[in-house]
Amino acid sequence: MVRFVRCNALLSLALDASGKGCRYVAKGDSDDDVLKDMSSHLESVHGVDPSGQKETILASTKTHGS
Ligand SMILES: [Zn+2]
Repeated sequence: MVRFVRCNALLSLALDASGKGCRYVAKGDSDDDVLKDMSSHLESVHGVDPSGQKETILASTKTHGS
């Protein structure tokens, strides 16, 4: 079972490092893994403090294939 969340589901106007709409997808075996993956992405690529994004990330996390 793979859990995932799309960056553009969280930050609708997010741009990636090359200035295009961010297509990043964080994946993991559990919500915790997804949360860690997306938190580091938000911080390193978008300069967003992930501590305020936890609820939003978890609310947008889905199970692949369902
Ligand atoms: Zn992103």
